[in-house]
Amino acid sequence: MVETVPDVIVLGAGVIGLTTGICLAEAGLRVLIRTEALPPRTTSAAAAALVGPLSYPPGNPASAWERVSLVEFTALAELPGTGVRMRRGMLAARPGSPQPPPGFEHTAGVRPADPADLPPGFEYGIWATLPLADMPVYLAYLTDRLAAAGGRVDVAPAGSLDEVAQDAPLMANCTGVGARDLVPDPEVHPVRGQHVIVENPGLDEFFLEAPIGSAWASYFPHGEHVVLGGIATPDDWNLAADPAIAREIQNRCAEIEPRLRSARVLGHRVGLRPARPTVRLEIEEIGSARCVHNYGHGGVGVSMSWGCAREAAAMLVAGTASGPRTPVHPSPVEPG
Ligand SMILES: Cc1cc2nc3c(=O)[nH]c(=O)nc-3n(C[C@H](O)[C@H](O)[C@H](O)COP(=O)(O)OP(=O)(O)OC[C@H]3O[C@@H](n4cnc5c(N)ncnc54)[C@H](O)[C@@H]3O)c2cc1C
Repeated sequence: MVETVPDVIVLGAGVIGLTTGICLAEAGLRVLIRTEALPPRTTSAAAAALVGPLSYPPGNPASAWERVSLVEFTALAELPGTGVRMRRGMLAARPGSPQPPPGFEHTAGVRPADPADLPPGFEYGIWATLPLADMPVYLAYLTDRLAAAGGRVDVAPAGSLDEVAQDAPLMANCTGVGARDLVPDPEVHPVRGQHVIVENPGLDEFFLEAPIGSAWASYFPHGEHVVLGGIATPDDWNLAADPAIAREIQNRCAEIEPRLRSARVLGHRVGLRPARPTVRLEIEEIGSARCVHNYGHGGVGVSMSWGCAREAAAMLVAGTASGPRTPVHPSPVEPG
């Protein structure tokens, strides 16, 4: 349990804050996470969440973040209670769509789909076996793992970074779209997503329409339920599920997999992707504290979480005064 004065205050209890907190706590630091919303009420809880495929070529910093994360999630899929499983599925594109971005060939086990396997209306596809995280379960696993390493989560929103800098010598800013106001960083903006959760009619493979525009078909089976997507609406802050959008999502998915048409709806999830032209992973001195910023992961935050968290923790502990990173665009192709 954390003593009165923590070594590090992490802001945010989404997948980025929890993973960063774990890396720091497991390195022996006393970690306190301060958050506005607890994990089940974050954007992270709304994610599908597919990890990979690798979308950046080797040499790009984002490629390293993806690779580290893919290895971690693959290992977590072997453990009970993490909510992570390896799943086979298809990523497919309609005619006229650019094909999936470069780098896909770097993911082990990815192979082109036989045209006969493609759903009607699609002209290109790949098969991949990738980690798939049931996010509410995975976030609970991360929370328990943080606690096991001595970390604690408090609901205590930060009014400013300066204020937090007075309470600990080290800080990690993992506030997702909240960074827009907190930093403030006008480069961060929300891209709203919505999922429909249905009873699983017997599916064990995922499907993701790629590349991603503003609306697409995707479904991700997690045992008893399936997560259906998806949409991406820039600059929309509305966290309420829209019933009309939910119907459109289920209809689009049913065109690919007819068993989904009458699947019973169990619930809805809405999240705000923290979009930014580049992921911000860098050190800033704030008052007497050293802060590592780790936010702006757009639609691929789960897929990059372990790579970014390990690097953020190393930068913070080593005191690396990294300058702005080589621009790294969050992949336009969200895994889910
Ligand atoms: C519908 C949907 C599907 C997605 N599918 C995938 C997928 O398949 N694969 C994938 O890799 N990614 C996916 N994503 C993207 C992924 O969910 C995000 O990139 C990721 O969740 C961002 O995590 P985060 O921790 O930065 O932000 P969040 O989960 O939003 O967490 C931010 C935290 O900061 C806290 N906070 C904010 N302001 C303050 C403050 N002032 N003080 C204290 N705390 C504060 C919040 O309360 C919250 O706890 C998806 C996103 C959506 C919406």
